[in-house]
Amino acid sequence: MQADANTDFLIIGAGFAGLTIAERLASAGWKCVVVDRRTHIAGNARDHIDRAGVLVHGYGPHYFRSNSPKVVDYLSRFTGWHRVSYTIKSHARGRYWSFPVNLNTYEELTGKPATTAAFTAWLEQNRTPVEHPANSEEVLLSQIPRELYELFFEGYTLKQWKRHPRDLDASVCGRIPIRTNRDNRYLSEDFQALPARGYTALFENLLAATPNIELHLGIDFAEAKQRWNCRHLVYTGAIDEFYGRRFGPLPYRSLRFEHQSFTAGQLRTREPISGKPGFWQPAMQVNYPEPKVPFTRIVEIKHATGQAVDATTIVREFPKDWTPEDEPYYPVPAPDSRAIYQKYAGLAAAEPRTSFIGRLATYRYYNMDQVTAMALTEADKLLARHGTP
Ligand SMILES: Cc1cc2nc3c(=O)[nH]c(=O)nc-3n(C[C@H](O)[C@H](O)[C@H](O)COP(=O)(O)OP(=O)(O)OC[C@H]3O[C@@H](n4cnc5c(N)ncnc54)[C@H](O)[C@@H]3O)c2cc1C
Repeated sequence: MQADANTDFLIIGAGFAGLTIAERLASAGWKCVVVDRRTHIAGNARDHIDRAGVLVHGYGPHYFRSNSPKVVDYLSRFTGWHRVSYTIKSHARGRYWSFPVNLNTYEELTGKPATTAAFTAWLEQNRTPVEHPANSEEVLLSQIPRELYELFFEGYTLKQWKRHPRDLDASVCGRIPIRTNRDNRYLSEDFQALPARGYTALFENLLAATPNIELHLGIDFAEAKQRWNCRHLVYTGAIDEFYGRRFGPLPYRSLRFEHQSFTAGQLRTREPISGKPGFWQPAMQVNYPEPKVPFTRIVEIKHATGQAVDATTIVREFPKDWTPEDEPYYPVPAPDSRAIYQKYAGLAAAEPRTSFIGRLATYRYYNMDQVTAMALTEADKLLARHGTP
């Protein structure tokens, strides 16, 4: 079938990957058509003001952090930043715990004051040394006693992935720091901040600054390839879908989000728990690792956005199996799924006129800054190959 129109680059997906590469190519003078099957930009990072007037992250909380000045400088062209120290807690045995595990957690466990030296010695005595941890259980048990592993990690991981930590790559739980000081910060990266007016506003600014991008929302790849001829395709959707799942579907985990808003009046009774007026819980995120609780975490993003609003919204997150009706939120980082992915990656590597970038096209859990870096690198490669018009 003859396509209706021509473009230099056809880009599937208007998330971090698609819009970053579109901006780079369009700024070099190339015409870019960006399509997304959703009716909004920003991909999974999309945020919006809900009915209670609270800025919320619609597809789960997105905590921007980075050790890359190049990525931060690039994104700073389109946004100011609200600096945040992301804090989370864990809720188990009927109480809140300091988390990630640190000296405060140890004191909460023993009920008495302790020192870094005493905590380090306790960890050393009770951990299970493993020279090369091969999975998530080993990576944790090689650092902490079984009691802490069971209290904070085992049930959470089972709920999140529906797989035991021993059946998941070491990288899944290896990302979570274990500290022997009192550092309660969730993340360790140098730069931790949210876009001052949100992710959606960041990408609105990017589009407003880049005239050569033509954006079409609510359009699927299948329709887009009928409508536009292109010199080169950039695909940021799921790689198994691109190839019609010919080697079988890749496994994903999905999520159901339950939003609940509270007025200032309703929040008054929560003050003894949240510790401050206008909030429902004591930290931005509280993990619920116990199997008897059906959700994994409750996020109250207002702690991080710093939005001045009396109401608040909390979001409970229920993990679920992925079906074709669901969003494929998380690639499953395990040897069996990687083996299927390698088959698709083999086909992708042999496509001279298609780039596969982003989280779904490379079947890997990447943070937003990593995806931005990947898109910047791919743009440089394409510009080196195609030059400027
Ligand atoms: C619950 C959750 C929490 C997260 N928290 C964090 C965090 O705290 N910090 C962090 O750095 N990262 C976080 N991430 C990761 C972050 O979402 C990704 O790094 C980022 O969204 C990747 O951008 P992307 O463009 O690759 O993918 P996406 O944001 O998924 O964008 C891809 C776009 O392509 C579109 N698309 C797909 N297939 C097609 C098709 N066939 N036709 C048309 N359009 C299509 C989709 O609709 C989507 O909008 C989180 C992810 C999830 C799921």
